[in-house]
Formats: sequence, structure tokens, C-alpha cells
Amino acid sequence: MKHRMTQNDLLRRLPRERLSLLRELGDLADEGGVSLYLVGGVVRDLLLKRENWDLDLTVEGDGIAFARLVADRYGAGLAVFERFATARLVFPDGLKIDIATTRRESYAQPAILPTVQLASIEEDLYRRDFTINAMAIQLNAAQFGRLRDVYGGQRDLRARTIRVLHVGSFEDDPTRIFRAIRFEHRFGFRLERATLRLLAQAASTNLIVRLSGPRLQNEILLLFSEHDPVRAIARLAQLKLLRFLHRRLCYTKNVKRVVTAVPKALTWWARRFPDSVIDRPIVYLMALSSESSPDVVAAMIRRLALSREQAKNVSAGGSRIDRALKRLTDKGTVRPSQVYRLLADLSDEALVLLLAKQISRQHGVRLSLLKRHLLSYVKNRAVKTALMGRDLQAMGLKPGPQYRTILGQLLDARIDGMITTEAEERAFVQKRLV
Ligand code: ATP
Repeated sequence: MKHRMTQNDLLRRLPRERLSLLRELGDLADEGGVSLYLVGGVVRDLLLKRENWDLDLTVEGDGIAFARLVADRYGAGLAVFERFATARLVFPDGLKIDIATTRRESYAQPAILPTVQLASIEEDLYRRDFTINAMAIQLNAAQFGRLRDVYGGQRDLRARTIRVLHVGSFEDDPTRIFRAIRFEHRFGFRLERATLRLLAQAASTNLIVRLSGPRLQNEILLLFSEHDPVRAIARLAQLKLLRFLHRRLCYTKNVKRVVTAVPKALTWWARRFPDSVIDRPIVYLMALSSESSPDVVAAMIRRLALSREQAKNVSAGGSRIDRALKRLTDKGTVRPSQVYRLLADLSDEALVLLLAKQISRQHGVRLSLLKRHLLSYVKNRAVKTALMGRDLQAMGLKPGPQYRTILGQLLDARIDGMITTEAEERAFVQKRLV
């Protein structure tokens, strides 16, 4: 009895309205004659007392039929993925819940998505990546709150270890190699000894080569989206996993310094420019490839099947930034308009990398100088000329390439504070007319 109480307490860690929804869904599962479980990461996080509102449910029986029942009862939107026997519900208040069907997976070939066969909850938990992610909490009324921990998930949480469920796990699905590193660093856990050996073994083969670009990208960017991925990146290097991004991608001392400086650069940037939304994982990828040749970077972009926007950022990580950085931290003054020209076609991600590079050089005076340049540059991005092309035309200037030149000069003069009014702009143009 005491035991049941403890397990019930686990679900009480959820916000009250989530808890009552789960109770209702448990009752609905009873009505539908199926067993219903909360599974995976949310169970782990309840035990760890970490917030996680991703409610993943699994039905022992027909998950899609159950999802339909819930959708009808709550007026929720429903998307069904027959092939995976899963469904996604979107409740009227916006809450999303994924409902799966307990299944076993057989891997026709390693590293390829598995085929699905229905199975019991124990078998379903067995196909999961790590023991800490292989627990379920039953939701049916009579068993409400009962924790199913068949493979030692609680033991491993207590021991702070990541452990696979069977020796073929990484071969079945090499994305688990990256997931293991992700959880290891997120929770400050260690890979259990045999698991580390299996992981190193799988990493030393070419299994990861078989992962598709989007799947590899997903794992890498998820890993780099973690709160502080610096040590996880060092771990990738230590386990010789970076070669799967490109065989010539090197984690040199310099690269390490730049990667290590990224969190500081991100913090400074976020504090100064809270409205700028930074693609953080991409900044880490840029830092990681910041010393690689354009060929290597281009091949890495292809391997990871990056989007056009991400690709543009990552390929800007190299010499373009170094040139701007050199000029901005050199002795000798740089006018605000020159700063503007040097930085104008760099994305905010590239600017963060630029800052990280300077931080990594540990040169305090030049770092302060660069920060001042960045502050003035971002402020000056809002500066506009009062005159436009049609004004120049009205003033009798023939349309042509000189428009760009003159408007550029006007903008520079504005940024440098030489011109502050429209009248001054007109006078400036007038001078060029005669
Ligand atoms: P996060 O907090 O990062 O979302 P999560 O554990 O919830 O972590 P998801 O990727 O949302 O991770 O996966 C949900 C659950 O599905 C996992 O807890 C695990 O049980 C299972 N799972 C996910 N990916 C795999 C995989 N590659 N192999 C086996 N099981 C997996």
C-alpha cells in the first residue's frame, strides 16, 4: 500500500490540470478496453523532478482507435500515422499529445528505420534506447500511477548512468550514439561501462555513414541545442565521431577555444540584443568548422542536408569573419560607417561567432573594442536615409548605378553623424549635381 502511494505521488508532480486530464484518459481507456501508459522521457523526468510537459502515451491495443475516441470526446484535432501506428492529438487549448501503439521493432538492416509489429508494453519498453527512458506509468483507473520499470531504469537514475537495453542497440539504431551523449551531458550522468564499450565499438565502424542526412542533422542539432553543449562536443571529438560530419573536420586547440567561447558570446549577445533570435546550434556548428577549408565546410553542409539558410550561415563562418575581425581589432580607428560596411552582410549568428573568436583570443582591450563596434553596428542597422531613388530622380539625377553610390554615401554620412537632416542630405546630393 505504501508503495502504491509513492508511485501515485510521481504523477502529482505534474501540473494539476495535466494530472486530471491523465485520470480522465485512463477512464476513457477503461471504456475502450485498452491499457494506457505514460511513457519515455516524461517518466524519467518525473523521477528526476525535472519539468517536461511532453506527454507521450502508449496504448496496449489499438492506439489509433483510442486516439479517435479521445478526439471525439474532447473535440481535439487528430493526425494519424498509420504506418507507425501512432497519432497526434491537438486539444482545443493547444495541448499536443502523441499516442502510440505498443510495438516491437525488427530492424531489417541496421541504421534503417524499423518495421513495426504490435506487442506488449514490456516488449515496447525493450525497444527503447536506454533503461532510464524505458519506463512507463499506467493510467487505467485501477492501476493509476503504477510505475512499470522492467529494465532497471530507477536503479540507473540513482546510479546516474546511461545504459542500453541490449548489446545490439547501437547497431540497430546509431542515432542512439548521439542520444547517449546528449543525455549523458544534460543530466551529468556517465555512460555505463559496457554501454561505453559498445558505443565506442559502434562509433569505430561505419554504421553512422548509413544514417540519412536529415537524421544525422537532427541528432547533431539536438545535441548542439542542449543548454551547454561544449563538453558534449569535446566528447564527440574524443570518441572520433566528428569524422561523420567530415573526415577532415579537426578539433584543434584553436577550434576548441572558439567552441568554448561560444556560450559567453551567446550570453553577451542575448543580454545586449534580447530581440535577436539566434540559431544557437548553428553557431556551434560554425565554431566547430571555423578552421576548416571551404571544401570541407561545403561537404559537411551537404552531409547534414542543412537548409539553405543554415548553409548560408555555416559557410560564412570562415575567412569572411576573420577579415572583418582583423580590421575591427587592428590598431587605428575605424569609422562607424566602415564598421557597418564590414559587418553588413553577416548574419547575427556570424556576429556571435565573430565575438566568440575574439573572446577565445583572450585579449581584453581588443575585446572591449570589438564589443563597442558591435553595439554601434547593431544600433546603426536602424539608420535610414531620408532620400530615396525617386527623390534623386526628382532632383534631376539620371537613373543609373550612381544612385547606389550616392545613397550609400548618404547612409555612411548619416552613420558617421556628418548628416542628420533631410535638408543636409539634399545639399549633399546637390553638390554632386554640379
Ligand atoms: P527529450 O527530453 O530530449 O525530449 P525524450 O526521452 O523525451 O528526451 P524523445 O526523442 O522525445 O526523447 O523520445 C521519446 C521516447 O522515445 C524516449 O524516451 C525513448 O523511450 C524513445 N526513443 C526515442 N528515440 C529512440 C531511439 N532512437 N531508439 C529507441 N528509443 C527511442
